[in-house]
Amino acid sequence: MPIQRFPLVLESWRPLAPGICHYVFRRGDGQPLPFLPGQFIQVHFRYADGTETKRSYSLATVHPPGSGPATQVEIAVSFVPGGAATALFEGLEAGDTLEASGPFGRFCLMPQDDNSRYLLIATGTGVTPYRSMLPLLEQAVTERGVQVAFLQGARRPEELLYGEEFRAFADRHPDRVRYLPCFSRELPAADSSHAHADVRHGYVQQFIGELAPDPARDISYLCGNPNMVDAAFEALREAGLEPRRIRREKYVSSK
Ligand SMILES: Cc1cc2nc3c(=O)[nH]c(=O)nc-3n(C[C@H](O)[C@H](O)[C@H](O)COP(=O)(O)OP(=O)(O)OC[C@H]3O[C@@H](n4cnc5c(N)ncnc54)[C@H](O)[C@@H]3O)c2cc1C
Repeated sequence: MPIQRFPLVLESWRPLAPGICHYVFRRGDGQPLPFLPGQFIQVHFRYADGTETKRSYSLATVHPPGSGPATQVEIAVSFVPGGAATALFEGLEAGDTLEASGPFGRFCLMPQDDNSRYLLIATGTGVTPYRSMLPLLEQAVTERGVQVAFLQGARRPEELLYGEEFRAFADRHPDRVRYLPCFSRELPAADSSHAHADVRHGYVQQFIGELAPDPARDISYLCGNPNMVDAAFEALREAGLEPRRIRREKYVSSK
């Protein structure tokens, strides 16, 4: 069956960090976009020579369960120098239309999950699926008593995407949720909001051992830079997690 495409009209956008923007769209055909948190959409466009191409973007939309189908479509885009989709997004203004399809993917929390802890690991815009999962994670924490440990990688504090939202989630559940930003290049300044928080200096995969992965109770999600996903997968395998309990989304460029 051919994949159905639909128009997405840009409502607004805002910078999230240097070179990274958050976009809010609505479908131009007036339809909602039902999706599962963790899924992605594809944006279809043409290269300068007219050849068709597409790129994938995880949905960042926070849509509480039970509140009807989502009408907004939110994504975060990290600009890649010389990138074809990057040029498209950099030139977008409110009211402009893109062609999209989806949602796709199975990088989702599963209703049958019987784990007692989620280990979430991401770098860069790889955190967007977790932003979208926040209402379901909150539900799992309050109704099932699940614990969440979240390692978020960024080079420096101003690149910690949606950091306040993840921090607020952890603050609401101090006994169950552990939020651990990892900065690879620069730690927070002494007077910043991150200064007294639980943060680490290095790459996310360096701190997996600190969370003591446990095959009996953990399900892990890895999203973002493919090298990080591979390294974290190996570390979790060495800790004994079965592959089916390590769910992965690699942000590779599709051409
Ligand atoms: C399932 C899935 C979900 C994704 N979700 C997101 C998302 O939510 N947000 C997001 O920003 N991206 C996401 N990506 C990546 C996205 O689809 C594009 O690959 C990215 O936006 C670059 O596209 P581009 O056309 O600008 O660059 P391209 O024209 O594809 O690439 C230009 C050059 O940059 C290199 N390059 C491409 N990507 C990177 C990179 N990340 N870092 C360094 N060099 C790179 C290429 O190898 C090439 O040399 C996702 C990818 C997948 C597969």
